[in-house]
Amino acid sequence: MSKATHNMHRPVINHTIADALAKVTARIQQAAQAAGRNCETVRLIAVSKTQPADAVAQAYANGQRDFGENYVQEALEKQAELNALADLQWHFIGPIQSNKTRPIAENFAWIHSIDREKVAQRLNDQRPPHLPPAQICLQVNIDDESTKSGVSLTELSALAKAVSHMPRLQLRGLMAIPAADNTPEQQHQAFRKLHNALTELQTQGYQVDTLSMGMSGDLEEAIAEGATMVRVGTDIFGTRTNTR
Ligand SMILES: *Cc1c(COP(=O)(O)O)cnc(C)c1O
Repeated sequence: MSKATHNMHRPVINHTIADALAKVTARIQQAAQAAGRNCETVRLIAVSKTQPADAVAQAYANGQRDFGENYVQEALEKQAELNALADLQWHFIGPIQSNKTRPIAENFAWIHSIDREKVAQRLNDQRPPHLPPAQICLQVNIDDESTKSGVSLTELSALAKAVSHMPRLQLRGLMAIPAADNTPEQQHQAFRKLHNALTELQTQGYQVDTLSMGMSGDLEEAIAEGATMVRVGTDIFGTRTNTR
């Protein structure tokens, strides 16, 4: 089924966040079942970028615990408003500028978007001692797009090696955002490539278990190819009208 057809059958307007979350959860269950996987092996990250703290609180009230943010300043404001919700897990999923690593090191349990050693080193050095090591995914530029961040597949092994020696970072796996104009088949191939790259790291001896891939429009394809975390914004919170 084409993405366009998918989307026509999934209107996001007029749904409360509770309904939308239930629908996304059902899609994850179905996709896992179709792939012969236990749905508990797929973790849903609710991507709350550009959404108000109140939307996060509503999702939280409906059992959602993992939230993804792309912009440091916006995330910090939301975290301050929501700091009473103690077991909420924040995931940083946006591009990381090397001069803005400190608040990311201090305020996120997971960081999905590390793509160079310099940024990793700064995050490691700035991770506060009272917190557990940050859980890390390396972002791979899986479709080799010149405009997209992410380490290339050829440089991945060297970056994994460097990060694995950083005690305040725990390397968990890989993240990718495939090309926006991929056909569903190309999307499968991109996700499969990322899965193969993870398997290759495991073969090299790295204890990695996480594949962060799949968003609102392609979470089924991602789960079919082994995603263990899907990052879903639009289909939970609605269209982002207040884009930056
Ligand atoms: C915005 C974003 C998402 C969510 O995308 P939707 O299509 O709204 O589900 C997932 N991952 C990253 C890295 C994003 O920036």
